[in-house]
Amino acid sequence: MTHDSAVSKARDIAGRVLAPSAGQNDKAGRFSSEAITALGEAGLLGLTLPPELGGSELGPRTFAAVMTTLAEGDASVAMVYLMHMLGTAAIATARSGATEAVTPILKDIAAGRHLSTLAFSEAGSRSHFWAPVSRAKRNGNGSVQISAKKSFVTSAGHAQSYVVSALAPEGAGPTDSTLYLVTASTRGISVAGQWDGLGLRANASAPVALENCEVGSQFQLTDDGAGFPAMLNVVLPLFNLGTACVALGLCRAAVSGTASHLKNAKFEHLGQSLGESLPTLRAQLATMQIETDGLAARIDDVVDHLEKPRETTMLRVLESKAAAGDAAINVTSTAMRVCGGAAFSKHLNVERLFRDAHAGAVMAPTGDVLREFIGKSLLGIPLF
Ligand SMILES: Cc1cc2nc3c(=O)[nH]c(=O)nc-3n(C[C@H](O)[C@H](O)[C@H](O)COP(=O)(O)OP(=O)(O)OC[C@H]3O[C@@H](n4cnc5c(N)ncnc54)[C@H](O)[C@@H]3O)c2cc1C
Repeated sequence: MTHDSAVSKARDIAGRVLAPSAGQNDKAGRFSSEAITALGEAGLLGLTLPPELGGSELGPRTFAAVMTTLAEGDASVAMVYLMHMLGTAAIATARSGATEAVTPILKDIAAGRHLSTLAFSEAGSRSHFWAPVSRAKRNGNGSVQISAKKSFVTSAGHAQSYVVSALAPEGAGPTDSTLYLVTASTRGISVAGQWDGLGLRANASAPVALENCEVGSQFQLTDDGAGFPAMLNVVLPLFNLGTACVALGLCRAAVSGTASHLKNAKFEHLGQSLGESLPTLRAQLATMQIETDGLAARIDDVVDHLEKPRETTMLRVLESKAAAGDAAINVTSTAMRVCGGAAFSKHLNVERLFRDAHAGAVMAPTGDVLREFIGKSLLGIPLF
């Protein structure tokens, strides 16, 4: 698969599978299994994996374009895809002791038969995902036992595996975590509540409980205590880029939904469309477009920084998610105002986009935490 064919497959799925059912799935809070099947059949679940595992080994530029395209169709599905890609990245970079056990799983991912996700956030440490309060306990046989209350896990109950963080058995500090791969069939893992969010309602981000889950050493993805660097170096750049792309997809959908409303809704007594009649609405639509294109340029810049890492890469990664969260909220809020009562009374998809747009800023690292990190790093203050 090439960059162009990957994006074209994503566009086809977004138009054919995602967009037509996004509204209904949002209303019902229904996870779209058919979207995952379509992504799997198109080879997009293994987009970044190497060819020897059956993947296409495509980089951040294609990942960003695919993410944005999916988010234009349905941000809930795009977020499911993002969490899967992050889980996949964590599994693919597993320590050598796990290679044999995870290789068949990675092949299943590339073949479209396996959806993964991240289970980092815990009820105890809330958005501070880098500091799990759960701790893995050693069993005599080389395996560990994990009990944890994971507070939000996208694709809960639908994923075939969960990349789970827990403090390392002998970890001394709050960030001395280890990452494990816990398959959905592991005894003791269960979905521990309903997902009834304000937005991204169709992505099953429910709590998950682990009760004395036994995980063999072959499924220990990082060395003991090396979960934290994996979160920062493997997961965070892709997560921030992917979340920014979800925001961009939402902005583009809001611009197009608003433009369509301004063209089609009429003042019959004036014989004009809203857009023809009111300069103020045209100006607000233009502001939405300017902010959307600004975000697209920022994403291009982050992609370039990831392709050619340099001193400013981490700063741009941190900035991207903070800026994208604000842009998505601004653009969709303006869309709500411009589309007026039609949006407020839920006659347009703009209202779903507005709700979905509010998730990005609260997903960890939250917009506030990112500002803390950026401010501290500019002042030379340690981040943790
Ligand atoms: C739709 C959705 C999907 C999710 N999917 C997943 C998933 O798949 N896997 C996963 O592990 N997690 C997931 N999460 C969890 C998410 O990443 C956060 O951990 C969670 O939303 C934070 O919850 P909280 O508001 O209770 O955090 P809190 O920590 O209570 O934050 C409350 C407020 O305090 C602010 N705040 C917190 N700490 C600081 C600080 N140091 N400086 C400044 N401000 C601060 C926050 O910005 C926020 O505004 C998901 C969340 C959502 C909403």
